[in-house]
Amino acid sequence: MNIAEALKITGCAVKEKAPMKDYTTFRVGGCADVLVLPETEEQLVAAYRLCVEQGIEPFIMGNGSNLLVSDEGLGGVVLRVGPNYSHIEMPDETTLVCTAGTKLSDLCLFALEHSLTGLEFAYGIPGSAGGAAFMNGGAYGGEMKDVLLWCRHLDKQGRIGTFSGDELQLSYRHSVYAETGYLITALAVRLQPGDKEAIHRKMRELLQRRVDKQPLDLPSAGSYFKRPTGHFAGALIEQCGLKGFRVGGAEVSEKHAGFIVNRGGATAADILQLEDSVRQTVLEQTGVRLEREVQFIGRE
Ligand SMILES: Cc1cc2nc3c(=O)[nH]c(=O)nc-3n(C[C@H](O)[C@H](O)[C@H](O)COP(=O)(O)OP(=O)(O)OC[C@H]3O[C@@H](n4cnc5c(N)ncnc54)[C@H](O)[C@@H]3O)c2cc1C
Repeated sequence: MNIAEALKITGCAVKEKAPMKDYTTFRVGGCADVLVLPETEEQLVAAYRLCVEQGIEPFIMGNGSNLLVSDEGLGGVVLRVGPNYSHIEMPDETTLVCTAGTKLSDLCLFALEHSLTGLEFAYGIPGSAGGAAFMNGGAYGGEMKDVLLWCRHLDKQGRIGTFSGDELQLSYRHSVYAETGYLITALAVRLQPGDKEAIHRKMRELLQRRVDKQPLDLPSAGSYFKRPTGHFAGALIEQCGLKGFRVGGAEVSEKHAGFIVNRGGATAADILQLEDSVRQTVLEQTGVRLEREVQFIGRE
C-alpha cells in the first residue's frame, strides 16, 4: 500500500497531485504529490504518526498565506492544518482555545462576539491561528506574543506536548517552532473584557487601513521581505523606483512596494527572479540587503 492509500485509512481526505496554487494565497506553484486535509485532532494525530512510522517528515502548512511553492511542486506528504480543522472553545471568561487550522479572522470574530479585546490587530491577517503562532504574526503594534498563552503540539516522534510562556520563544516573526519543526495542533489566547462597539470599531478601522494600503485585489503572500532593522522594505523598494517593476506575471505592487503580486499567470520562477532583481537594486542603491520573509518550498 502506498502512503496516500495508508493515509486515507486515518479518515483524512487525501489528494494526490494536488495543485498547490489552489491552497496558497499567491496562487502559484506545482502539485503536491500527496496533500492531507485532516478535520479532527484524531485524524491529524493519526496521519502524523503514520508518517513518522513510515519515516516520512510531512511538510506542515496552515492557510498557505506565507508560502511560495516551486513550479516543480512538492514531493512527499503535505499536511494541511487549515480551515477544515477549525474549532473554537471558551474554557473561561477571557480564554479562547482553538484548533490550529482555525482562521485567525474567525478567532477575532469570536472574540468580538464575546466582547473580548486584545486580538483586534490580527483581523485581516489571512493565516490560520497555528500559522500565526508559528510566525508570531503581528500588525499595527500588536503581535501574537501579546495574547498567546500556550500551544499544544506533536513533536517529531508524534508525542503530544505543550509549550507556554517563555518556552514559546516569541520574537519578531519567530517562535520556537521554527527550530523544533513540531506541528502545532491547538493553542490558547488570553484576552481582556472590553467594549464590544469599541472592539468592532478598531477591527473595522484596521481592516480599512489594509484595504487602503495593500493590494488585496491581487494574489500575494503579504509583505514579501522581512523588515530590515531601522528601515521599511516597502519604502526602500519605492525609493529605488521599483513600483510596478515586472518579471512575467510577477510585479512589485503599484499600491504597496513591499508586496510582490501575481498579476495573473505568474510562476514561482518569475517571482524569484523579480525578488533577485529587487534585492540587487536595493542593495546597490541603499546598501541594505533585503531578506525574504515568504517561505519558498518544494523542488528546486
Ligand atoms: C494580504 C496578506 C496580508 C498579510 N498581512 C500580514 C500581517 O499583517 N502580519 C503578519 O504577520 N503576516 C501577514 N501576512 C502573512 C501571513 O498571513 C502570516 O504569516 C500567517 O501567520 C501565516 O499563516 P498560514 O496559516 O497561512 O501559514 P502558512 O503560510 O501555511 O505557513 C507558514 C509557516 O508556518 C508553518 N505552520 C503553519 N501552520 C503550522 C502548524 N499548525 N504547526 C506548525 N507549523 C505551522 C509552516 O510550516 C510555514 O513554515 C499576510 C499575508 C497576506 C497574503
